[in-house]
Amino acid sequence: MPTRPCWVEIRTRPLEENYRFLLGLAAPHAELLAIVKADAYGHSLALCAPAAVRAGARWLGVTSVEEGVAACALCPEPKVLVIGGVFPGQGAEVVRHGLTAVAWESWQLDELERAAHAAGALAGSLPIHIEIDTGMSRQGVSPDGLAPVLARFAPGSPLRLEGVMTHLFAADEADGTVTQAQLAKLDESLGRIEAAGLYPDWLNVGNSAALLAGEAGRIAALAGRHGMRAMLRPGLALYGLVPRFDPPFAAGEPVGVAEARLRLKPVLSWKAAVVGVRAVPAGAVVGYNGAFVATEPMRLALVAAGYGDGLDRRLGNRFSLLVRGERAPIAGRISMDQTVLDVTEIPGVEAGDEVVILGSQGGETITAFDHAEATGTIPWEVFTRIGARVRRVAV
Ligand SMILES: *Cc1c(COP(=O)(O)O)cnc(C)c1O
Repeated sequence: MPTRPCWVEIRTRPLEENYRFLLGLAAPHAELLAIVKADAYGHSLALCAPAAVRAGARWLGVTSVEEGVAACALCPEPKVLVIGGVFPGQGAEVVRHGLTAVAWESWQLDELERAAHAAGALAGSLPIHIEIDTGMSRQGVSPDGLAPVLARFAPGSPLRLEGVMTHLFAADEADGTVTQAQLAKLDESLGRIEAAGLYPDWLNVGNSAALLAGEAGRIAALAGRHGMRAMLRPGLALYGLVPRFDPPFAAGEPVGVAEARLRLKPVLSWKAAVVGVRAVPAGAVVGYNGAFVATEPMRLALVAAGYGDGLDRRLGNRFSLLVRGERAPIAGRISMDQTVLDVTEIPGVEAGDEVVILGSQGGETITAFDHAEATGTIPWEVFTRIGARVRRVAV
């Protein structure tokens, strides 16, 4: 068990409550798939997947087969959807662990079919969700390329078309025009799938922004017209953050977004300890290249967290962390394993004091959005960059 005083606290109860709130937004029209990819957005798959399942999740979404195998080992009950696709040599693991693969290339279907045959799988026993590229140009089969993919689900094949997936790439643009165009393309593709005599169960569409913006009803109506059920795939909201909508809503926020602001609770806090405090005279230079110079006699606190833990080096000299419930500016450059805080204005700081890098202390809060804004990125990246060596503890 690592004991270095730099750790992440995961509150699983808010995660459960977030899941139930999101399910309430989706139901009764749609099912939810809890996105736990990338080690549950850096929150720890081992802590978060079981929490989502306790809250009722029947589907988990991961990026890779490796993550899928890990999710299955933790939670045997729910179905696990591998949304990042299947790569050469991974078919056998998909079959052995009963994962549900997303596929769109014929070589992926070859890989899965071979593995199913090798395992003696019966006709129609290996569920597959095909992804359709409705405009993102990232992954998925284009609507015009559907025919050869659909032909792979002929009677007798071990492959069964269980679901159809697409990814809305601008669900956080509040005017919704891109999303509507994507859904129209999807509608047309679903028509082609029906015309091919295939009747998948699930239409698997929509991230946190789509769910909060109230798209579940529209996606469910689309699914219903084609005899399918809708499934939405929230990630960020599960971990307690409301995505930002840009451009914002012209006519006020949808109820889902407004309620989410009140109800979603962050799951993760990132903390470290003060490991030493020193007094320096005016003129002392601090840290690499003396990028900070003491303007007066100052007190500096050394914190056991650095860019090697995922604390972005660009925050040096331009961000504050919390100690004793107050904001202490970062003095100078962030080192790989350490950061220095200016605690001159905060009385009584001593070794052992808890430092909050992300989270709340006293009346102050630092959010993942604060980190993201200061470094020109998004909360998803802030979370997933918290290093593997930072231990995650359930509280
Ligand atoms: C990550 C991901 C999601 C979840 O997105 P959030 O914005 O975090 O809710 C949904 N679908 C796909 C395909 C993803 O890759």
